[in-house]
Amino acid sequence: MKVLSVASEIFPLIKTGGLADVAGALPKALAEEGVEVSTLVPGYPAVLGALEDATTVHEDPALFGGPARLLKARAAGLSLLVLDAPHLFDRPGNPYTESSGHDWPDNSRRFAALAAMAAELCRGLLPSFAPEVVHAHDWQAGLTTAYLKYGAPAPVKSVATIHNIAFQGFFPAEVFPSLGLPPQAFAIDGVEYFGGVGYLKAALQCADAITTVSPTYAEEIRREQYGMGLQGLLQAREKDLVGIINGIDTEIWNPATDAALACRFDATDIDLRVINKRAVEQRFGLASEGGPLYCVVSRLTWQKGIDLLLGSLDRLVASGARLAVLGAGDRNFEQAFVEAAERHRGRIGTVIGYNDGLSHLLLGGTDAILVPSRFEPCGLTQLQGLRYGCVPVVSRVGGLADTVIDANDAAVTAGAGNGIQFGLTNETSLDNAILRANRLYATRDAWRRLQLNGMGCDVSWKRSARRYAALFRSLVLAAPAISEAKELP
Ligand code: ADP
Repeated sequence: MKVLSVASEIFPLIKTGGLADVAGALPKALAEEGVEVSTLVPGYPAVLGALEDATTVHEDPALFGGPARLLKARAAGLSLLVLDAPHLFDRPGNPYTESSGHDWPDNSRRFAALAAMAAELCRGLLPSFAPEVVHAHDWQAGLTTAYLKYGAPAPVKSVATIHNIAFQGFFPAEVFPSLGLPPQAFAIDGVEYFGGVGYLKAALQCADAITTVSPTYAEEIRREQYGMGLQGLLQAREKDLVGIINGIDTEIWNPATDAALACRFDATDIDLRVINKRAVEQRFGLASEGGPLYCVVSRLTWQKGIDLLLGSLDRLVASGARLAVLGAGDRNFEQAFVEAAERHRGRIGTVIGYNDGLSHLLLGGTDAILVPSRFEPCGLTQLQGLRYGCVPVVSRVGGLADTVIDANDAAVTAGAGNGIQFGLTNETSLDNAILRANRLYATRDAWRRLQLNGMGCDVSWKRSARRYAALFRSLVLAAPAISEAKELP
């Protein structure tokens, strides 16, 4: 079976968050299930610079305001189709924002172009490539499904995956005429959303199936508290919505072979982690002391509960713990961590920025990772923590609830706990969770049990890739040979 995946970032070429990890890892896991994935990605400079054997397979002299080429290439073991459109993607820095942190002003056009190209590929643009399923990730790929619904027939089924419903790709109605969609697409059952154009909304309306990245998040987003305005639509499409938990690439995230670690280890020689701990202490300017060393590897945003953590820092330090923070995001939060590191010299260390290697070292060297998210579709850092013997301390939401087994008395007696979960009910919940973790850490055997239980968990893509493959197959088997275009322009 052939699948066209459409993603705005893909590891290891370009990454701002978990979407890139999924887009990079799932094709390899699906290959094991007999599913051949080609991924359409924008030709950012970082992507173009990483391509091997690129050949031009299509040219468009005027794609959304400028000339574009479609390249077929490989990179890092991935089979790629790259939309090289310099007027849209040849820009420095972040895929979505200018260096000031503001969205690129033409994001509606940039990702409409990506989606329009995806729809053409589904219609057989390349004679040698006939996908049976198109897998559109997040709002950036969302319009693919609308171009399919409102354009010429295409022999594909579509799956939209929500990685984070907080990011919806909402634009004013004025962008609609530039999208090349027929007037009837600007409707409640099309791309119209609260008087504007909603790219994610369009995908949830038009895709044949919807997935999101954990079973609990699939439940949560049907409720007002988490649905961010889309809960009604998701309730209406309940039958077509499924939560499939993310995995991680267990070759990239393997403490036994990880070149980013000061010392590699596995479950049989977990004491070697202390060498990585010393390296973390050195890198983050931390004193070597007996208490637990926590880490944070995160976007520094409200979603991630970073303000709550900042409020707990003094108490964390007073409890005898230390903290190493790696992250970037909200400038106020960045500044607050820099100040906290000055205020608590030797006890809190901060590195602002994105640093893949350092994130591996933190997971391989610190005792526990704090993930106090207000909502978390899946979360990957807790899975990385489990794999590296770095105990996750997480809020009980979304994929965190699905992947971390709280070390309560019953779980400990049953030998099942692999971390700590807490309800974010009030401002002392995180403090209490840290105190609980401190106490468990002080009981060396109990802590070791948590670490080993975590390292024994299957956090790979294996099971979830099987579920995606089954979903794709069920859609194709139920489909007529050519899906009818419901409305033609
Ligand atoms: P989100 O996608 O919401 O940011 P996830 O937990 O799903 O959160 O995925 C985040 C991914 O980005 C993980 O692979 C994590 O290790 C990585 N990451 C986050 N912040 C940094 C950082 N500052 N440096 C390196 N890696 C980071």
